[in-house]
Amino acid sequence: MIRINNLDKYYNKGKKSEQCALNDVNLEFGNTGLVCILGESGSGKTTLLNAIGGLDDFSGGSIEINGTKLTGYSPKLTDAIRNEHFGYIFQNYYILKDYTVGYNVKLALNRYDLTEEEKNDRVDYILDMLGILKYKKKVVSKLSGGQQQRVSIARALLKAPNIILADEPTGNLDRRNTDEIMKLLRKMQSEFGQTIVMVTHDMRLTEEGERVVTFEDGSIIGDTKGS
Ligand code: ADP
Ligand code: MG
Repeated sequence: MIRINNLDKYYNKGKKSEQCALNDVNLEFGNTGLVCILGESGSGKTTLLNAIGGLDDFSGGSIEINGTKLTGYSPKLTDAIRNEHFGYIFQNYYILKDYTVGYNVKLALNRYDLTEEEKNDRVDYILDMLGILKYKKKVVSKLSGGQQQRVSIARALLKAPNIILADEPTGNLDRRNTDEIMKLLRKMQSEFGQTIVMVTHDMRLTEEGERVVTFEDGSIIGDTKGS
């Protein structure tokens, strides 16, 4: 459960270039489903996702994640929440391009007290689910964009987080790969039952969502079920 109360975010506060990116945002997500955050470029979507995911500070208000309330930037607390609850998927994949698929995905288990065999089993299981087990020993840079995004999804899912934060996960993909990745996210969601919060500027993609929250200029202007 994520509960956001009166969230504000200013960039360059107090300076001439001050920019209000989130303006008194109130929002609550339940425990399952695909929630789409829709809005044009610059509407505050990434700012919101980064605040929820503890990747950036916010200026006012609070964010409660499964019972832990954040009222500001607290690295210790956010680190713990990040490790325990979140998986991240980004537009640019953020994977190590010169390393193999298997290496990249296994990294997510680094801090876990598991044997090498247990780690390998988990990695194989998730790669298989995402249809990329055959690329395990391939260097990431040799894969297509759609395959690379599957690698980052595998990495995000590996620790079985209960919340996946996805920022324009198909932003760099063509239509066919976009549709495939969306289907995959949908399938993973029904399989594992996580909450997926997905940011997009593409209305078409929100059709997959249980809920669509629309942003404009840092404020919510709509909150509806997907069609
Ligand atoms: P979106 O993801 O919807 O495109 P963002 O959350 O990235 O929107 O940006 C919201 C607003 O905040 C925009 O006006 C953007 O220019 C501004 N902004 C984003 N990041 C920064 C930053 N690091 N410094 C200053 N302004 C920023
Ligand atoms: Mg963005």
